[in-house]
Amino acid sequence: MTRVRRLLRGAVLAPGGLLDPGWVRIEGELIAGLGAGVPAPAPGELLEEVDGLVLPGLVDLHCHGGGGGSFSDAQPDSARRAAEFHRRAGTTTLWASLVTAPVEELVASLAMLRELVADGLIAGVHLEGPFLSARRCGAQNPAHLLAPDRRVLARLLEAGEGTVRMVTLAPELPGALELVGDVVAAGALAAVGHTDATYEQTRAAIDAGASVATHLYNGMRPLHHRDPGPVVALANDAGVRCELIADGHHLHPAILEATTRCLGSDRTFLVTDAISAAGMPEGRYRLGGLDVEVSGGSAHLVGGGSLAGSTITAFDGLAFARRQAGLPLARAVGLAAVTPGRLAGGPQSGTLVPGARADLVACSRELERRAVMIGGAWLNDRARD
Ligand SMILES: [Zn+2]
Repeated sequence: MTRVRRLLRGAVLAPGGLLDPGWVRIEGELIAGLGAGVPAPAPGELLEEVDGLVLPGLVDLHCHGGGGGSFSDAQPDSARRAAEFHRRAGTTTLWASLVTAPVEELVASLAMLRELVADGLIAGVHLEGPFLSARRCGAQNPAHLLAPDRRVLARLLEAGEGTVRMVTLAPELPGALELVGDVVAAGALAAVGHTDATYEQTRAAIDAGASVATHLYNGMRPLHHRDPGPVVALANDAGVRCELIADGHHLHPAILEATTRCLGSDRTFLVTDAISAAGMPEGRYRLGGLDVEVSGGSAHLVGGGSLAGSTITAFDGLAFARRQAGLPLARAVGLAAVTPGRLAGGPQSGTLVPGARADLVACSRELERRAVMIGGAWLNDRARD
């Protein structure tokens, strides 16, 4: 089989900045080179003009579903629908997040998601629970929260067979710090979230190895100048990377701008926290056995009022960060692709560099998405999308 060779010409967001005009050369599945200027195609090379920007494929490390599909209900068709929906929308690397559920259900979901990892549809799994604070559980089902239990954690990690890449837990719960150690020893990231921890309790978790803040600000004790809590403990530690939800409902755009400017795009990254309702009509949905009402672009627990994830794609988050929060393009792409790509590792790096898998998004300069490429092949008809 001959490998398709393509030359894309457009404004290319390279690690060092925007190459405008620029080009990317693709051979088979991989990026072969990139640079500034308007080169002619080599013999046998397909020339493709991108009238706009060529960005790295986006990376979403916290996502529960989309397009009517969910990762959480152990249904393979539903999970595949969710993964396909986000891929078509520009997310080329995705970790599927599981909300709190009975342990047997989590084990079944993990077994099902292993197949999606093996097929390359998702890159890993994030366990958001069940060791979370009942006071800060948000839209997590409080009936299934558990006290930290090393045997339960071991069972879940075992069920994932190496696909569990991150575990969110509340460090103030008795025994939680031991679990942080177990998560790190298993090669996964320990994340602090859905927590009522004090500043000191959060510091202890970081000292034990926690290195990610699960949707910083949301689902945690709020920042107060005499009670800095988890927000300041996580933000102040250079070894911690902080998720931010850029949907316009979870965070004020000024918080998004200020946090990413102060901490830098290598310490902050965007997540969608999307649920099955992303890309779907407004109305009633389910999340972790709870009813969710989607209206006005935001998802709330029915009766409870708590925000219940988002209805955005990673590309929507990028566009919000750029347009509503006013972030410079390079910082916004750093948050949406480069930094989470570094956390995810592997060949899908979230960065346009020679040797990386050719995952990219073609869009207008106003960030209207046109086409998505994964592994050197366009997913959707460029004229259609
Ligand atoms: Zn979540």
